[in-house]
Parts: sequence; C-alpha cells; structure tokens
Amino acid sequence: MTNDHRRDNSFLLITLRSCQIRVEVAALVKRLFGSTRAELVAADAVTTAQTQAGEWTVNQYGTPTENDTWHTRADERVCPICEPLDGTTRSVWVSEVPSGPPAHPFCRCSITYSSLEIQI
Ligand SMILES: [Zn+2]
Repeated sequence: MTNDHRRDNSFLLITLRSCQIRVEVAALVKRLFGSTRAELVAADAVTTAQTQAGEWTVNQYGTPTENDTWHTRADERVCPICEPLDGTTRSVWVSEVPSGPPAHPFCRCSITYSSLEIQI
C-alpha cells in the first residue's frame, strides 16, 4: 500500500467517523437539551472537527497555501455571513473567520486544500 493510498484511506475513515460522531453527539445532546439544541451542537462540533482535521492534515501531509478555498453548499440556504466567503482563498477567509468553518451556528461550509487535492 502506498503512502497516497494510506492517506486516502485515512480521509475516508475520518469522514465516516465524523458522520458516526455527529449521530452519536446529536443523540446524547438531544436527550439532555432537546432536538434543536442537539442538532446545533452536533453540527457545530462536527464542522469544527472537520476543519481542525483538515488544518492538521494539510500541515502534516501538504502545505497550507493561498489557494486553500472556502466553499458554501451553494444552495438557497447559504446565509449572508458565508455567501461572501464562497470561493475566497486563505488570506481572505482567515481575515474574516481565522479558525475556518463554522462561521456561525449551523454553518455547512468547508475548505478545499490545494496541496491535498481533496475536500475536507
Ligand atoms: Zn458557512
């Protein structure tokens, strides 16, 4: 197995585990605070974890570059906070949201890392 395959498998495992964690966190918080609060906490926790995993990975296996790009879901639910960030590069989004997505509660944005050629 090459290093590229191991890295690809790691990303798949991170993504699958993120989905499992979102469901587990939502179920736990739902029991404690009700469904809306649970969804909010789970969504924000997973988006934060995705971004932190992406930043860690790009620092370990790639290089953070100016071409690292913020993406919204580009649908009717994109908010006024994130819409101007869509398609912006690192220097722009870091000046607005230094830690990356989430920019606000229920943010569904993500970053693509040009040196990794995959989306986190
Ligand atoms: Zn967003």
